[in-house]
Amino acid sequence: MPYQTTESLWGPEHQIFRETVRHFIATEIEPNVDEWVHNHEIPRSFWLKAAEAGILGVDIPVEYGGPGGDFLHRLVIAEEIGYTPAGASMAPSLIADGTTEILFRSANEAQRRQYIPAMVRGELLFGLAITEPDSGSDVSAIRSTATRDGDEWVINGSKTYISQANVADAFMVVVRTSEAPGAKGLSVIIVEADRPGFRRGKELHKMGVKASNTGEISFDNVRVPAENLLGEEGRGMAICLGGVNMDRITWPLIAHAASQRAFEETVEFVKNRKAFGQTIFDFQNTQFKLAEMKTEMAVGRAFLDEVIRDYQANGKLDNLKCAMAKMWLPEMEARVMDGCVQLHGGAGYMDEYPISRLYTAARLHRIFAGTAEIMRLLVARSI
Ligand SMILES: Cc1cc2nc3c(=O)[nH]c(=O)nc-3n(C[C@H](O)[C@H](O)[C@H](O)COP(=O)(O)OP(=O)(O)OC[C@H]3O[C@@H](n4cnc5c(N)ncnc54)[C@H](O)[C@@H]3O)c2cc1C
Repeated sequence: MPYQTTESLWGPEHQIFRETVRHFIATEIEPNVDEWVHNHEIPRSFWLKAAEAGILGVDIPVEYGGPGGDFLHRLVIAEEIGYTPAGASMAPSLIADGTTEILFRSANEAQRRQYIPAMVRGELLFGLAITEPDSGSDVSAIRSTATRDGDEWVINGSKTYISQANVADAFMVVVRTSEAPGAKGLSVIIVEADRPGFRRGKELHKMGVKASNTGEISFDNVRVPAENLLGEEGRGMAICLGGVNMDRITWPLIAHAASQRAFEETVEFVKNRKAFGQTIFDFQNTQFKLAEMKTEMAVGRAFLDEVIRDYQANGKLDNLKCAMAKMWLPEMEARVMDGCVQLHGGAGYMDEYPISRLYTAARLHRIFAGTAEIMRLLVARSI
């Protein structure tokens, strides 16, 4: 059964695109994902195929090599990738294509021409490197530095938990470029992975999303040209926040779609599994749990729709509502996933059942792209 999105949100072009994404998932992701999970990596050929299918840099204008879609096309990808258990193993990698949008939005014309077409062709992979060993939620504690030396920036420091760390060709790196306190001294600099002094660290092994590569990178007097500065000096936080808001609607949508899939897998399971002479579904406890899940998902979807309709009306995402969505939807997902695993019994703990992968992937959604606690801080500020 396909994901039950809110049909009225989408134009015909998004629905046609949805079919493309579904086909791509069925033919290129689902048959291969187990191998990627095993290797902890998605091969380069995947990105070329994704580009061919038109699902990279979907909102990049045609003149820069993109398909010329809009932000809603990204949300269609989020729904479809969220809905498939295969997506649960690799979604952060595919969603990392959001770096194209961040780069495009903040880059000058020369940078756009230099990077964007190759990114959209799937030939150039970018990572976004914000988190450091001593600075995660507290971005103002970032210690990596970039010092100006003539026509170059000299970069030192290290980053951790970076998606695509071992595969990306270049990174947008958040560094301190001045003594200005907190986030004011932060800038974003593009660092290509073949610069002397750039090092990839060890791969980090995760409880879930195992096909998505996560690791460490470090910079030892890495020199890049002055023109690798993205946007204005000191505006690093603003550049990242633009992308962060995008994440704060994308990941709640993924959380919702994954919940729906987990629910459907569970209904199917409990209607077939028998205990004490009846199906698990026949127990009132099971029906009550499923009723709660169905209701929570409907409530969550209504709020997501409101955030998307706001965007359609105003052309921008509402910061507060995005924070609320990123706070609530992954927590709702956690309740649904936990209940679904429980209704599966021992099978729920076995990797051969999709619910197992959906469950471990879901655990991530409350942590990255801003933790649930940081979202609470943001929402509380509005009170
Ligand atoms: C699979 C994966 C992929 C990732 N990919 C990337 C990537 O591509 N690029 C990147 O830059 N980063 C990436 N991250 C890092 C991610 O963004 C951080 O893990 C996240 O921001 C949390 O930071 P932290 O891990 O340092 O936790 P901490 O900030 O140390 O937080 C620990 C706990 O303390 C809580 N806490 C912190 N501050 C407060 C507060 N003020 N009030 C109340 N509670 C608080 C947190 O909510 C959390 O529960 C990734 C992480 C994972 C797991």
